[in-house]
Amino acid sequence: GLTGKLQAALKKLTGKGKLSEKDVKEAMREVRLALLEADVNFVVVKDLVKKITERAVGQEIMQSLTPGQQVIKIVNEELTALMGGTQSKVNMAPNPPTVIMMVGLQGSGKTTTAGKLAGYFKKQGKNPLLVACDIYRPAAIKQLQVVGQKVGVPVFERGQKDPVQIASEALEFAKKEQRDIVIIDTAGRLHINEELMEELSRLKSQVKPHEILLVADAMTGQDAVNVAKSFDERLGLDGVILTKLDGDTRGGAALSIKAVTGKPIKFIGTGEKLEDLEPFHPDRMASRILGMGDILTLIEKAQASIDEKKAQELERKLREQQFTLEDFLDQLQQLKKMGSLSDIIGMLPGVDVQKLSAAGALNEKELVKAEAIIQSMTPEERRNPSIINASRKRRIAMGSGTTIQDVNRLLKSFEQFRKMMKQVSSIEKAVKRGRFRF
Ligand code: GDP
Ligand code: MG
Repeated sequence: GLTGKLQAALKKLTGKGKLSEKDVKEAMREVRLALLEADVNFVVVKDLVKKITERAVGQEIMQSLTPGQQVIKIVNEELTALMGGTQSKVNMAPNPPTVIMMVGLQGSGKTTTAGKLAGYFKKQGKNPLLVACDIYRPAAIKQLQVVGQKVGVPVFERGQKDPVQIASEALEFAKKEQRDIVIIDTAGRLHINEELMEELSRLKSQVKPHEILLVADAMTGQDAVNVAKSFDERLGLDGVILTKLDGDTRGGAALSIKAVTGKPIKFIGTGEKLEDLEPFHPDRMASRILGMGDILTLIEKAQASIDEKKAQELERKLREQQFTLEDFLDQLQQLKKMGSLSDIIGMLPGVDVQKLSAAGALNEKELVKAEAIIQSMTPEERRNPSIINASRKRRIAMGSGTTIQDVNRLLKSFEQFRKMMKQVSSIEKAVKRGRFRF
């Protein structure tokens, strides 16, 4: 898939201390191939590769990253920008109900996604109504009813009546019943045709939706992009929901839609189940395509804040199991400089932020307490916390003006932290050795 190909192309760069223009060119040739193979629009690829190359060759030197890491960072940033940069939300009407019209080809996932969206809003405390305007197959109404029942949202239907008529009645009904979001499921066709566009245009001028969302099947690659373009030209779209982005689907459509149509992806469907809907975040998608989660951000932050010597010292101590409570205090203070502590810790795979913050390691007040507690310990206790028994705990609590529970909490977060720092240091080591697999 795209992820594997991009990883392979970029991996060659990560181990290098210095990048020549040739290195960059070669990597970019492979990046280009990987994108084209994933069915990203040709013009988009050309543009993207040009931008990345220009930036990579004229490197904005950043001391904390190797040139290889910098190229990856640039690729990541450009992919994010390509997909719109930031998250685009659904337009909410100032006076409810907000009317959302789902459009798209047959089989793209409109009915399923209408249900998913209704469930999504319901979870946010909204009061949605689903409207069955696909009147051509009786099974379509039934399907929407099943979906509605599963997410606990009522479905408005009037059988095979004119969809425009149904929609207007549904709006009246929604106002009367205080439904604040109306989601209209419409009919699709196998291909774009006049009849379909005509019906959708009539619907649009009658109900004046706040949001027209195209549902497009990611598995169709560039076809999805072309469909988006046509629908936007004929009907005007507010956004796209890209479905079937589960598993190993080629990411091509996700990368091209915004660039080609100017319309953002707002949600993605990642499975057949009704909870398989996620708001679309360009930065997360870029990282997902590059296959690296949030690790890159973590590396950046860590390298910017922990200076080299200290990091090495820390690493040695962790290796030799000499990481003491004094080091812990020092680290808490260092990490604080990086910004929100829980943000950073949240990026580490396998670290339970909730547990850690429940243990009290993450807030300012606890930090002051931690300092007092550690200062009330003997040097021996700081080096070897395992000797701290009940009577020592009592003494420490008294000395620091805290409670035994506070001391216990501190010791617990120290343990958590020790585990966490081990992870940080092994990530850093892997990066330094060029072993980190992007
Ligand atoms: P419509 O004709 O546009 O209303 O499409 P449907 O909602 O009937 O969906 C067509 C098929 O796609 C159904 O089998 C759905 O279960 C499936 N589907 C919809 N969204 C997704 C998705 O995000 N992932 C997967 N794997 N299947 C999906
Ligand atoms: Mg349908």
